[in-house]
Order: sequence, then C-alpha cells, then structure tokens
Amino acid sequence: MELFLYNTLNLKKEKFDPIKAGEVGIYTCGPTVYNYAHLGNLRTFLFQDFLVRTLAYNHYSVKRVMNITDVGHLSGDGDMGEDKMEKGSAREGRSAWDVAAYYTDAFKEDMGLLNMITPDIYCRATDNITEQIELVKQLEEKGFTYKTSDGIYFDTSKFPDYNRLSHLPLEELKEGARVEKNPEKKNPTDFSLWKFSPADAKRQMEWESPWGVGFPGWHLECSAMSLKFLGGQRDIHCGGIDHINVHHTNEIAQSEAATGEKFFNYWLHGAFLNIAGGKKMAKSENNYLTVANALVKKDINPLAFRYAALQVHYRKPMDYSENSLRQAEQGLNSLYRQIAALGSDIGEGGNGAKDEFLAAINDDLNMPQALAILFKILKSEMPLPAKLGAALDFDRVLGLNLASAISRFEETAQKLELPEDVKSLLAARQKARQEKDWEKADTLRAEITKLGYTLTDGPEGQQVELENK
Ligand code: AMP
Ligand code: ZN
Repeated sequence: MELFLYNTLNLKKEKFDPIKAGEVGIYTCGPTVYNYAHLGNLRTFLFQDFLVRTLAYNHYSVKRVMNITDVGHLSGDGDMGEDKMEKGSAREGRSAWDVAAYYTDAFKEDMGLLNMITPDIYCRATDNITEQIELVKQLEEKGFTYKTSDGIYFDTSKFPDYNRLSHLPLEELKEGARVEKNPEKKNPTDFSLWKFSPADAKRQMEWESPWGVGFPGWHLECSAMSLKFLGGQRDIHCGGIDHINVHHTNEIAQSEAATGEKFFNYWLHGAFLNIAGGKKMAKSENNYLTVANALVKKDINPLAFRYAALQVHYRKPMDYSENSLRQAEQGLNSLYRQIAALGSDIGEGGNGAKDEFLAAINDDLNMPQALAILFKILKSEMPLPAKLGAALDFDRVLGLNLASAISRFEETAQKLELPEDVKSLLAARQKARQEKDWEKADTLRAEITKLGYTLTDGPEGQQVELENK
C-alpha cells in the first residue's frame, strides 16, 4: 500500500518514494542538552517515532539519525543570544561537558519511558567538529561566506530560493531576523557558520579552526552530520514547526550550496504542544513540564502521554493539562482492560483489519484514525484470539505496550486463585454476554457476587476484573 506524507517543501501530501528501494534514511533534529526535554519536545520526538514505526510496518529498512546538540545553540534561533550550554553550566555549577552528559542520559531515559525506538545513530555535535569545519571550508571555496568581527557568516543573498521551505516572502523572513541587531551582517537572514570565542573570556567548549578559535553555528551540525551519517540516503528530515523558517531553511541553504545536490526530499514538521491559553510550551517561557515532574512524580503512567499524543494528528496543535493527561491514562487503562479480557490466545488478526489500519497510518500518519480502527475491532464480533492478534500487530506502530496487559491479567487471575465454580460461572456469563442475553448475564453476576466476588465490567462490556471481597 502506498504511503503518503505531508511534505513542507511542497505544502502537500505526497506519495513517499525512497531514494533506494526498500530503505529509508531519516534525520531528526535532536534535543539541546542543557536541560531536561519538556513534553513539547517529546511530542515532536513521538511523532518521529510514529513515523519510524509506520515505515517499519511498511517493511522499509529504516536508518534514523538523531543529533544531540551539545554546543553552539544560542538562546533564540539567531547568532546573538547566550550560549545554552554555558548557561546550563553557570546555573548548575558544573562544567558544560558534565551538563551535556547528564541531560543526554536523562533524555535517553525519557525516550525509553515513552517507549520510543532508539535511533540507529545518536551523534553529538562536539564529536563532529572536523566535519563541520570542512563544510565551512567548502562554502568558503565556493564564495558563500564572509567574515565579521565575531565570526564567519553565510551570505543568504547568494543562495537562490532561500525561502523555498518557509514559502514566506523574503521580506518577511528578513523582518523576522531583524529582531537581532548585528550591524555587520550583509543581510538580516545571514547566519553564522563559525563563531569566534570572545577575546576576553575563555569558553569551556571551543576548537581551533582556519578562521580562529571558536565554535560552530547551531545549524551547521545538522548539515554536517546528515551528510556524514546518511550519505546519499537523505530521504526524510524532521523537526518541530519552529524549525521551518530558520533552522531548516539555513540547513538547506548551507548544505545545497556546499554540495550542489538536493539536501532532503521530504521535510516533515510536527505542531506544538501548547499549555492553557494556546501558548507554546517552551523552556524560555518557564511553563514547561517534564516526564519526571508531570508524569512519574504524579504516578501517571508515562505511556498516557504517548496515548494522548496518538489521539491528536501530529500536524494539529495539542493542548496540555494535567486533567487531559489523567483522562488519557483512564483511556489507556480501559484499553488495557479490554485487551486483558481477550485471554491469552493470540490468533491471526486478518487482512481486512490490517488493511484498514494500514490505510490510516499511511495517510500521513493518521494515528487518531488508527486508534479508532483498533477500538472498532475490539468491539466487533471477531473471535477473541483474532482480536488480540490484530491489537498486538497494531501495537508495533502504536507502541502502547499492549502485550503487558495480557500478562497483567494472568497475574491477577493467579493471585485470585479462583475456585472452579466461579470460573465456570464466569465462562457462562461471558457466553451469555456474547449472545447478548443480558438477563442471564445479570443472574450469573448475582450468583458470582453471592460467592463473595466483585465483578467489574470494562466500558466495552467485557468482564475484566474480579476482586475478592
Ligand atoms: P530543542 O531541544 O529546543 O532543540 O528542541 C527539540 C525539538 O522540540 C525540536 O524539534 C523543536 O521543534 C521541538 N519543540 C520545541 N518546543 C515544542 C513544543 N512546545 N511542542 C512541540 N515541539 C516542540
Ligand atoms: Zn537540526
């Protein structure tokens, strides 16, 4: 079945065609490790996880690269703000290197808690400085650079269709960039490739270069590392929508100027996670929440956030509130109960179910629709093992750890050590319910209750839990 993805480059859903048949190279802009990733960042990484899993479900062999930004990202997208790593170091009283190592580990832990597939390659900007310097040299040779007192800059006026990704008039891009006043820049949209260390202060992270001691501009790492780690297999590049107008626009300009080749064929961008009032969750706004404080500490299953993210299409804004997270957790638990009630025989889900599910995810990752199909199947007349088989198959994409519900159910059943008479009453009641003989089901429930057990039905009407009184 064909896979369609919304390509920001052409502003439409396009049939996905990889460069090499059966294989996909993906570059996903990763976290800046000066602090914990917040739930907004993680929403973006979740959409990329849905993408990677969808590609794998479609039998593609996927190679995903994710960078770890541990240098050079200044506050804001421009060239004048504070260095985020040095800022983290000052805040915490430890070296920028320690800060980076600590938050990289924390990030990987969060990825695990949200059941995201580990990228095939994690690459740190600081491990790839040579490649970044090489790229600037290439740009210099081709005449795209100029020097100012604080660094080497890319001359955006020399690159045709600089606005090809943003689709914004150049004037508007210039207006956006003008917020930051740097009188030495030839054009407001020009950006730094290499920044010099200040003459009067020693930076913790700095390197020798042909232009002087300093550090790379933030956009440079993603160009250098996608070219290095993906080679010619540059199919899909992802990030949040805030990356479109500056970061990705500049990545395209410097990469294509240096190589003379198209950088990536498909550009996918995830919408924001907002907090009350439609404000973007952001570290700079101090309104951000993390896996640790919004989920783990509140005893909410981290997968509830994953479930919530599945319920909103990745190109639509998503609202955060503790309440919505708790509702998502209830929904997820109800799903687990429905899975648990299917027993533990796993059958064939059937092609009809699979095709419907595939059609949803292949329509630009329509996860809300994919979930709806799962629920439809759970409610259907399909035999229980077939339902379970379909659910587990879909979970390769959903990543909700549905298999854990089966074992959990078995554990509870064991703990209860149900007497034979209760077991047979339960079986009879289940049959009555399947035959929609509600009266009989109610009579059987009363009998079970009389024997000292409480029977709880899940929202979908399946018997799911028994509690010894
Ligand atoms: P950063 O760590 O700032 O480099 O951001 C990591 C990723 O999170 C980038 O792809 C951003 O586009 C994305 N991002 C930042 N804020 C949000 C938000 N509120 N909602 C969704 N994605 C976001
Ligand atoms: Zn990037």
